Amino acid sequence: MERALAAELRATLAAARAWLREALDEGLEPDPRRLPGPPAAPGAPPAASPPPTARPPRAAAPAPAGAESPAAGSGEAALGAVRAALGECTRCRLAEGRSRIVFGDGAPDADLLFVGEGPGEQEDRQGLPFVGRAGELLTQMIEKGLRIPRSAVYICNIVKCRPPNNRTPLADEVAACRPFLDGQIDAVRPKVIVALGKPATSLLLGRDVSITRVRGIWQDYRGTPVMPTFHPAFLLRQYTPENRRLVWEDLKTALGRARELGGRIPELS
Ligand code: URA
Repeated sequence: MERALAAELRATLAAARAWLREALDEGLEPDPRRLPGPPAAPGAPPAASPPPTARPPRAAAPAPAGAESPAAGSGEAALGAVRAALGECTRCRLAEGRSRIVFGDGAPDADLLFVGEGPGEQEDRQGLPFVGRAGELLTQMIEKGLRIPRSAVYICNIVKCRPPNNRTPLADEVAACRPFLDGQIDAVRPKVIVALGKPATSLLLGRDVSITRVRGIWQDYRGTPVMPTFHPAFLLRQYTPENRRLVWEDLKTALGRARELGGRIPELS
């Protein structure tokens, strides 16, 4: 009996250690509400996610089930079709707690596309991505750092509804939303994608990544270059000169590549 209890305790401790390693890797401060848990690893890419393939041109972008065919040549029309297909979504449990769907924001033909994790409280209230504290920092990095208007880029998340208590989205929630993220990427056809944080990077790469290991290293998502970097919420928590420098380097590199690839991104005057 005692031995069984000890074994259970050891297993629980091992799970807790694994979770803590993961959380620290992502820069999360331990949150007692998120104890190591059972089934799907939070934010892990869905097991059945298809292998990355070359991305089709916008005209041939596959619409999510129920979507009308996106109009050729127009990011706006194609995005509209994806939004229409999403509708008043109830495909996963996140629908129950949301106030508003947070689809995306920015230029429908943007050459730089940012992918975050999921809406927080402010985003849920306003229906726009990255408008809370992390969003202010992201906006500052884009406008004061890169000196381009936020309205010139496109910003969206891997899930469109706020997870309860801002927890990391679960694998099935990410999977339910994935066709719409893919639809957005196919509609916008950016030159470069910036993946903000571990969940977005893991989803796009189709494997569970350590963000500290992959940030700053070019990746690929169906033919589009991906620059992974730290999430601005992590940066807010660990606002060190070194972390700021790393993110700054990543963003500059991403913008430079987008321009090298022919992206016309206006400068802020
Ligand atoms: N706000 C968003 O829209 N996404 C995030 O990942 C964090 C904050």
